[in-house]
Parts: sequence; C-alpha cells; structure tokens
Amino acid sequence: MEPATRAPLAGAPLTAASVASPPSTSIRAAPEPVYWEPDRSILPPPWPVPPMPTAIARGLMGRCPACGKTHLFNGYLRVAAECGQCGAPLGLARADDAPPYFTILLVGHIVIPLMVLAQRLQNPSTLTMSAIFLPLSLFLTLALLRPVKGGTVGLMLKLDLLRDLPER
Ligand SMILES: [Zn+2]
Repeated sequence: MEPATRAPLAGAPLTAASVASPPSTSIRAAPEPVYWEPDRSILPPPWPVPPMPTAIARGLMGRCPACGKTHLFNGYLRVAAECGQCGAPLGLARADDAPPYFTILLVGHIVIPLMVLAQRLQNPSTLTMSAIFLPLSLFLTLALLRPVKGGTVGLMLKLDLLRDLPER
C-alpha cells in the first residue's frame, strides 16, 4: 500500500487548467523596433570638436582642446577666456573642484603605496618618512594639478559642459 500513497508526489499532476492555458510565449507579431535618433536640431559649435581622447590629450599638454594650436592656460591654473585660433570659449568650462579631486586621487594612489612599501622594507623613522613623502606629495600635486585641469577642461569642452557665470 505504501507505493500507491506516494505516487501522486512523484511529479506535478496534469490538471485541466495547466493543459488549457498555453505558456505566455505564444507566437505573436513582433513590434516594430524603435531606433534612437540624435537630436539634430542642436547645431554643432563653430569651433572644431575633436574626438574625446584627442581633446583630453591636448588639455593634458596644456593646449587648446579644440584646435591644439594655442595655450590653454595664461597662468599656472588660469584658463584662457577664449582660444585665439579657433575661438573656443575655454573660460566657460568651469572645472571647479574636479581637477583637485582627480589630483588627490592620483597622488594618493602614487604616494600611499610607496609609503607602505618603504614601511615594509626599511621601517624608517617618522621623521625620515615625513622628509621623503611630504615634499614628494607636494611636488606631485603641483606637477599634476595643471595637466589634470587641462584634461578636465578638454573633457568638458568635448561634452559641451560650458556655462556662463551670472553677471555680478
Ligand atoms: Zn583652439
């Protein structure tokens, strides 16, 4: 008698409902695909728009990201208001806190592994560590801030992240 009582548990029993309703993936006409179209009502800017790697590379080298012919900066970090060659409004790319952020990220990823390595290999005194890594951090920060800002301005120009400051 025991096998007979267990038999219904072996598989799901076929009921009238499960046979009658077909699975949801029944044959149906596929809807027309919808293709994304860029908004062509926005005209391209009057200055040249290079590919993104070119714009960033030109910015990193301190050149105008749009044409690469003039200087991007007219000071250590002051971005020129406008390119003298192509007229790109470089001064409207307000990089704000992005270059310091990227610079801190880069310098941290260079200096901290070196500090850990020095600590593991030589275990120098705190004074020695400070004498090496404080000037190194300062030098790297000052050396990287300008190219990083140039690259950021290049990216912003490429992405059209330009804005006018309100008149004061
Ligand atoms: Zn230019």
